[in-house]
Amino acid sequence: MRSRNPRAGTVRSMVGRGAFPNPGIPNPQSLRPMSTFCNIDDKHVPLYRIVWVSDLPHFCGSSECEREGQYEVRLEQAESVWADLPERDAALTALEDWLSGQDRKE
Ligand SMILES: [Zn+2]
Repeated sequence: MRSRNPRAGTVRSMVGRGAFPNPGIPNPQSLRPMSTFCNIDDKHVPLYRIVWVSDLPHFCGSSECEREGQYEVRLEQAESVWADLPERDAALTALEDWLSGQDRKE
């Protein structure tokens, strides 16, 4: 009987300990203080200043372009910062966390 296999229980308990974090279930150990900032290009960027985040890496064809392959993060007042892919993804995650946290606020 597969369900009596002791290994099945081992895997389940590993999940419970966060070895396989399930994003649908809040893990108290993974909760961190919510930050209103994200790190982009060595800057702490306030999330509330972000207008939009590019989905595709920048490409303009200019041989002198220093931003090729980077992701534009548009800020208020026509400013931009430029993120690499991990920074862009971290910024989006931070934005989602921040916005859902605002929704939960009562
Ligand atoms: Zn360019």
